[in-house]
Amino acid sequence: MNHYKKYKKTIKEGVRKARRKRDIWINELLADESCIYCGETETCTLAFYPDNKEIRIVSRSKGLREKLRLPILERIQKNKIVCLNCESKLKNDIQLSPIL
Ligand SMILES: [Zn+2]
Repeated sequence: MNHYKKYKKTIKEGVRKARRKRDIWINELLADESCIYCGETETCTLAFYPDNKEIRIVSRSKGLREKLRLPILERIQKNKIVCLNCESKLKNDIQLSPIL
């Protein structure tokens, strides 16, 4: 029984590590970006609009090989980079205009 528990723990840790790496991949992409509406640059406040949730879910579920990342990058290119503040304004139908 201990073997099984140990094995299970190892798998869980592996999954967690893989997820963390894939989250870092997203954060690295956002590191040089800023909100197109207000210019916010803080990576942890940036999101893809409108597919932020799906992009992050798909990114977590796929490996980091280029072939697996290309469809995610394509999806990201169809999105805008916004901060969470502006994202909630957009979701509430508040009109925003890009600063650039
Ligand atoms: Zn913003």
